[in-house]
Amino acid sequence: MINTIPSGAPATTGFEAIEPIEAYLMDMDGVLVRGAQVIPGAADFIAWLRAQDRRFLILTNSSVYTPRDLQARLAHIGLDVPAEAL
Ligand SMILES: [Mg+2]
Repeated sequence: MINTIPSGAPATTGFEAIEPIEAYLMDMDGVLVRGAQVIPGAADFIAWLRAQDRRFLILTNSSVYTPRDLQARLAHIGLDVPAEAL
């Protein structure tokens, strides 16, 4: 979700409204992914959090998969997150 801006204007990310928030907790299923699909904007948002060194945790009530399993599953569908964030 990187906005295209006219030359000379400051770069915007679309995430300015949430810039003051220091740490984020978010649900995985239905928020970042739906089944095997990344929800539009989710990958950009996670990339922004990582670029900003913002702390975040992705929560799920799935007890079947380890964080490494979830990391691999998310990477496979295009969402790059460290296992430590799951
Ligand atoms: Mg959910």
